[in-house]
Amino acid sequence: MGADGGTLCDRRDIIVKTKKQDKKPDKEAVNFTIWNLCRLTKEPLHDPIVMDKVGFLYNKTSLLECLIDKKKKKKHKEIIGHIGKLSDINDVILEKNPDFSEEDKAETMDKTAVSLIRKSRFICPVLREEIRGQFSVYCISSCGHVMSEKAIGLAKKDGCCMLCEKPFQESDIIKVNPESTAAKEIIEQIISEKSNEKKRKKTTKEETNKKSKTSSIANEEHICKESTE
Ligand SMILES: [Zn+2]
Repeated sequence: MGADGGTLCDRRDIIVKTKKQDKKPDKEAVNFTIWNLCRLTKEPLHDPIVMDKVGFLYNKTSLLECLIDKKKKKKHKEIIGHIGKLSDINDVILEKNPDFSEEDKAETMDKTAVSLIRKSRFICPVLREEIRGQFSVYCISSCGHVMSEKAIGLAKKDGCCMLCEKPFQESDIIKVNPESTAAKEIIEQIISEKSNEKKRKKTTKEETNKKSKTSSIANEEHICKESTE
C-alpha cells in the first residue's frame, strides 16, 4: 500500500510537471522571437538595429528598404504602419551575448523549434544577464544603449548612461518590447498624433493659400489704382 501510494504520488508529480512544461515553450517562443528576431522580417537581429517609438526592434536595413518601397510598405502596413519618417526610429546598441552560439542561426526559427536551452543573442551590459523576457528592458534613446530595469535605475540616479557617460532626461527612456496592451496604446497615440499633424498642415496650407490670394488681389487693386491715377 505504502509503495503504491508513493508511486501514485510520483506519477502525479510527473503529470503536473509535464503540464507546466507544456505551457512554457509558448511564452518562451514569444520571448525568443521579440528579443532575437527582427519584427518585420523575423530574421535574427544583427547590427545595425533600430527601435521604433513603441519599443519594437528591427534590422535597420530591412526596415529602411521597406519604408522607401511603397508596395512593400503597404504590404506590411499592420507591422510598420505607425512608422512614417526616419525620426520615428532610433539606433540602438544591444550588448551581444558572448555565450551565444552562431550554430543557432542555422536552426529554424519556427516557434516549435525554440528550446529552453537556446541562448539569447543579447545581454544586459550591466548585469551581464541574458535578455529573454525575464526582466523589463529599457533604451536610453539619446545614446541608444539598452539595459535592464535594474541598470536603468542606477543610471537614473547618476543622470547619465554608465556605458557612454552621456547625460539623459527621463523622457529619453523608452521601454523595449512593452506588453501588448501598452504597445497598442502607444500605437494608437502615434496614429492619432499623425492624423492631427496632417490636419494642422492642411489648415496651414489652406490659410497660406488664402493669404497669398488676398495679397495678390490687393496687389492687383493697387496696380489698377496706380494706372488710373
Ligand atoms: Zn549610453
